[in-house]
Amino acid sequence: MCQTGEIVARMVTGLNELPFGYMGKVLRIDLTTHKATEQKTSVSCSESFLGGRGLGTKILFDETEANIDPLSPANKLIFATGPLTATKVPTTGRIAVAFKSPLTGIIGHCSVGGFFGSSLKMAGLDALIVEGSSEDPCYLVIDSNSYEIKSADELWGLNSYTSLKRLREKNAARDFRFAVIGKAGESTAAFACINFDGGRQAGRCGSGAVMGSKKLKAIAVRGQSRCEVAKPEVLEALSRKMTTRVMESLIDLRRHGTSGSISSVNELRALPVRNYQLSHFESVEQLGSDKIREKIEAGELRLISRSCWMCPVGCEKSIRILKGKHEGDETSIEFESLAMLGPNLGISDLQSVLHFMTLCDDFGVDTVSTGGVIAFAMECFQRGIVSRQDADGMELSWGNDTAVEELIRKISLGEGIGRTLRHGSLKASKELAKGASEFAMQVKGLEIPAWSPAAFKGMGLVYAVGDRGGDHLQAPMMRIEQKSWVLPGLGPVAMDRSASESKGDIATVVQDVKAVIDSLVVCLLPSKLDLEEYSLMLSATLGAEIEPTDLLKIGERVINLGRLFNIREGVSRKDDILPGRFFQNQIGKGEKIAFDAMVDQYYRARGWDKEGRPTMRKLVDLHLIEEYRRINYMKVA
Ligand code: SF4
Repeated sequence: MCQTGEIVARMVTGLNELPFGYMGKVLRIDLTTHKATEQKTSVSCSESFLGGRGLGTKILFDETEANIDPLSPANKLIFATGPLTATKVPTTGRIAVAFKSPLTGIIGHCSVGGFFGSSLKMAGLDALIVEGSSEDPCYLVIDSNSYEIKSADELWGLNSYTSLKRLREKNAARDFRFAVIGKAGESTAAFACINFDGGRQAGRCGSGAVMGSKKLKAIAVRGQSRCEVAKPEVLEALSRKMTTRVMESLIDLRRHGTSGSISSVNELRALPVRNYQLSHFESVEQLGSDKIREKIEAGELRLISRSCWMCPVGCEKSIRILKGKHEGDETSIEFESLAMLGPNLGISDLQSVLHFMTLCDDFGVDTVSTGGVIAFAMECFQRGIVSRQDADGMELSWGNDTAVEELIRKISLGEGIGRTLRHGSLKASKELAKGASEFAMQVKGLEIPAWSPAAFKGMGLVYAVGDRGGDHLQAPMMRIEQKSWVLPGLGPVAMDRSASESKGDIATVVQDVKAVIDSLVVCLLPSKLDLEEYSLMLSATLGAEIEPTDLLKIGERVINLGRLFNIREGVSRKDDILPGRFFQNQIGKGEKIAFDAMVDQYYRARGWDKEGRPTMRKLVDLHLIEEYRRINYMKVA
């Protein structure tokens, strides 16, 4: 357990106290008693897990028991910053969120851009732990060193954008930042998300449902404290250098955001089309960046670029519809949402897809899971598993945008067929039976995103073995499988995306690096997965020499602790698998043997046994023996 005041920082810093880069305080809010408690940031946790995802994983592991109901007061919702948060290092306004997922029943974590993380840290906090459950709807205001839990009676029942508007009116000062849930979170739809300031989401795994189960409608935060760093001049020079590199190298991302990828991914035959029955979409040009530019020039759409704290990229592309059937809608457009709510549902009308995104963000549901679940329902309809009567009279045919709009509403509110679908495609398939599970494109209950595991074998491996289920963000293998990136200890890596060889080894390193990025709480996109730059900046922040290998060890520890959490919930090798479609229809049965070999190689590279359990040697090496003792699976085996 993270003990407050525990002293292990000497391993890194030679000091018996927290190094620079931390504020030294964690705020615990018990919503059952409406009590706020300040605690000291654990020195040992900071050293062993850095912050962000690492710290969130550690707190969640220590403070929850196995098999708790994710929607019960026993679950925790942890918001954690990192040692670089709120410094001059680019992209350090982010926040990490950790919780037990109501969608998957295993660990859930998200890294969210924007300004919430820097504001929380400037309010003097390294982390916020929300526990218990309020009797009545409430919201939390953190204003520098003061904390207040207020009634949310006037906000409950409102969607995200209206809630944000009201919150901004109530907290008139413009420097507050907000995390808020919509009606989907209030009614605990399993893939409900948290909306941050209207443009960023803690999208995956159902954080919004956990917040809703605690009757916590919103969090408002602001602060003015400075985060002290050991060598400000050095850090400033390094930050300037990184800013220049990012400005010069990420021209496409600055211009188009991530949505520009849709055409190239289609070219590679890697798009989800009609629930991954196909991988190439004939009408993709209707959704591509040229079409968006054309509509902007024609005055139909307006594009607004936004950046996160200290980021020169501005990849958030907010689009407002000025003319047409969905005039007035506004949403942030990015590749995953576009692909999952467009080609995946057989829809090529740009305004319709933008409208779906607006609805998802407003109700507060994850666009990736929503797209995956609706595609699942449409394929069940195509195959006669779901009838028109089952679908509340709707024709769930591919491309039916009216039905998609209605399904988003029903899922969010828990009406009609939405009562089944809101639990995610895995649970819905069990309820529907009749072989529906074959059409649920998920891993461990999390809908897989928009990079086909048939086209990117390494990405498929990560979907299968990742700690939060079918998700690309826990290790962006598809980036490496498209072009060469530099990995610490491995140098430039270029790989054949259709090959299985070496993918287990590479995936291990990429996962570890990404766990570091998420624990520093910086943005993946400008990082290029290169830890050299971050180790220099972290050294200047903490005042201690940190090597990339030190960081990699922390990343490995975070991954292994996430695995221990999931083993405690019953996860084993049988769960590290892709949907059968990717072996039967597209890559053939022989590929299943190659896939199993990839998993074997991955387990070996991790130091796990054949069942996917960390070996004693690995646990000793990572100082995770105390955590292991709480599970003791060797004895069980
Ligand atoms: S690259 Fe984009 S998501 Fe990342 S910090 Fe910058 S603006 Fe935010």
